[in-house]
Amino acid sequence: MINKLTLSVCALVIGTSSYAQAKQPEFAAHHCKAGEINAQHYRNFPAALEEAQNRLQGLAAVKQARENKAADISVMGISASHKYIIPVVFHVYGTVHNGDTVNDAVIIDALYKTNEDFQGQTADFADIDPEFTGVKDSLNVEFRLAELDPEGNPTSGIIYHPQSSGAGNYSSSDVKNDHWDNYKYMNVYIQNDLYADGVTNNSGVAWYPDSGMSDDGLARVTYNGAYLGTNTDENFRSVLTHEFGHFLDLIHTFEGGCKRGAAKRCGKTGDKNCDTPQQNSWQMNPGDGGILNCLGETINWQNFMAYSDQYANYTQDQVDRMVNGLASPARQSLWSASNLVATGTNY
Ligand SMILES: [Zn+2]
Repeated sequence: MINKLTLSVCALVIGTSSYAQAKQPEFAAHHCKAGEINAQHYRNFPAALEEAQNRLQGLAAVKQARENKAADISVMGISASHKYIIPVVFHVYGTVHNGDTVNDAVIIDALYKTNEDFQGQTADFADIDPEFTGVKDSLNVEFRLAELDPEGNPTSGIIYHPQSSGAGNYSSSDVKNDHWDNYKYMNVYIQNDLYADGVTNNSGVAWYPDSGMSDDGLARVTYNGAYLGTNTDENFRSVLTHEFGHFLDLIHTFEGGCKRGAAKRCGKTGDKNCDTPQQNSWQMNPGDGGILNCLGETINWQNFMAYSDQYANYTQDQVDRMVNGLASPARQSLWSASNLVATGTNY
């Protein structure tokens, strides 16, 4: 059941379907900028790069726990069957994005479906390219709207603001001014023009875990309301899942393209995972002319961290990387038992 909607990216659709034409009258190719903005972040802040490198040292323990089928993953002493609950607050700027309405119902539905993506509960998860049935995996996580605000008052977890733009820019004043404690809440900013450049079809962008950003109130996912849940098609709405993947430390599977001679250095190429083959480019779907990379390997074109025509799965290595990311200084307090009580998400 390949949903043919010519490719789209973290950001855009160069579509030929009637849907895409209706939604994207202008030809554009605004890709997800997560790769470049995080690289820029590491150039600007050496401490952030050091933290990212240190974080990877924990990955071996996570993989070992999986290998041993350990009852307790040695990371943070949590059980292998642990369910992570992440309190989320949505900051919504303007309620009409490219003609689509952004309201509580749309957000609740979008978040529900993103949880299904992470938990492997979609029909697409069962419809994986056979080469990847052995490595596809899910993360036992639930992103849950906060029910208590930073002052301890009841909240819907969805806060509306006047129309604004630029929340995809690193030092966005909206992000800084409106954030809720980054160590207690995952902050998601919904705007239509992510970079305040007049372009309204960029779909999203996010930064990897970094305590410097959390200290400054800048940790975030930024997303376009026009691509939330039912405001877009069933496949493209999974770009929200893609951005949440970045938030938990996942890299694009196509990052850096495909390098010959690098087959044995899979931990250093592409998304730095070994069960996600390198991709020649971001545009690799069956309908794009082939799914074999420069080494002749079949790519996991249905991966959430690619630009897929049929978003369907994460892999075991990606899940390990997310578990490790969840244990990082910038994320570990989010799902702590005391924080779930503080944010009203402990039900
Ligand atoms: Zn991305």
